[in-house]
Amino acid sequence: MTEASVKKLPKGIEEGAIIELTDENNRFIGKGYYGKQNKGRGWILTRNQQETLDKTFFAKKIKTAFERRAALFSDPETTAFRVFNGEGDGIGGLTIDYYDGYYVISWYSEGVYTFKKTVVEALMKTADVKGLYEKKRFAVKGTYMEDDDFVAGERAAFPLMVKENGINYPIYLNEGAMVGVFLDQRHVRKTIRDKYAKGNTVLNTFSYTGAFSVAAALGGASKTTSVDLANRSKSKTIEMFSVNGIDYEAQDIIVEDVFNYFKYAVRKQLKFDMVILDPPSFARSKKHTFSARKDYPELLEQAIQITEKNGIIVASSNCSTFNMKKFKDFIKKAFSHTGDGYRILEEFTLPEDFRTIKEFKEGDYLKVVFIQKL
Ligand code: SAH
Repeated sequence: MTEASVKKLPKGIEEGAIIELTDENNRFIGKGYYGKQNKGRGWILTRNQQETLDKTFFAKKIKTAFERRAALFSDPETTAFRVFNGEGDGIGGLTIDYYDGYYVISWYSEGVYTFKKTVVEALMKTADVKGLYEKKRFAVKGTYMEDDDFVAGERAAFPLMVKENGINYPIYLNEGAMVGVFLDQRHVRKTIRDKYAKGNTVLNTFSYTGAFSVAAALGGASKTTSVDLANRSKSKTIEMFSVNGIDYEAQDIIVEDVFNYFKYAVRKQLKFDMVILDPPSFARSKKHTFSARKDYPELLEQAIQITEKNGIIVASSNCSTFNMKKFKDFIKKAFSHTGDGYRILEEFTLPEDFRTIKEFKEGDYLKVVFIQKL
């Protein structure tokens, strides 16, 4: 919704209220719901004035979304992916992920959460749902946020084992916002495993549960080093290696601030054949505040210094406030500072199950570039 139309919204409008937008000549523009989500104030759900936003409407959107993922559903090597991607599938503010028979709905505003009953019913009707969990990604002031995310069906036994292009991931659907793997990097992990890992030393920074490290190890990396600040990352990464039949003791798993690690690595003149950079958009540690928009070029400069000649840097960002063009400017800037040459080998944006629409560019947030240092 544009700012102009927001200003005309009635005072005291409630989250989840159905609203009709009209232009200054009172002509119908669209119909949707009111719901605060970041800078947005809601989503248009239809441009057709006759359409009612009822059960049938939601059920149709969900059914269509499932049909679009038919190829993924029939792939025995991949049992986790996104089945509904917000505005890309016609209902902004709502995503649904699939984990081998179990589903997770993420609600991005109080407004969309008011449609919970309708959405859950539509999902249960469309799919063979073993169990359903939810993530409320909005803070409701003054009320208790439930920590049990279970909604319906039967509870899964955790870890729930899922597969992605044959790689095993242990998943925890009831331990907070993150479940163990970020589904939007599927093609990137496969590419690392199949094309770039063999015989190489790999440094995976901001490694979380080590999914990129495992992909590299499965692709024949000579050794992986995973670095993440969070204490829990160590046991999660050990588990991730183990369920894929890799001896984790032959890998380095380091719990440390990446920025400290880079200082150490530069001082020790360590060099890696491949460096993976996948920082959060914003992060605050004891000593550093990192903002991808501001600090990515500097992060890249450090990575370049510890990458072998002809080695690969996988630069990734999920920050929605800059696009691929800008990201490539960051890359150019960093290499011009270090004085090294480079070549871009391949690029990735969101995979096909993370459908986007051209009217909402921020939804197309993922940028991954494979860069060779010359
Ligand atoms: N690359 C991961 C996802 C990264 S999620 C994957 O593909 O699975 C972001 C991670 O960055 C979190 O695990 C968080 O603990 C870590 N992190 C944030 N700030 C950090 C810092 N300064 N040093 C190291 N890790 C950091």
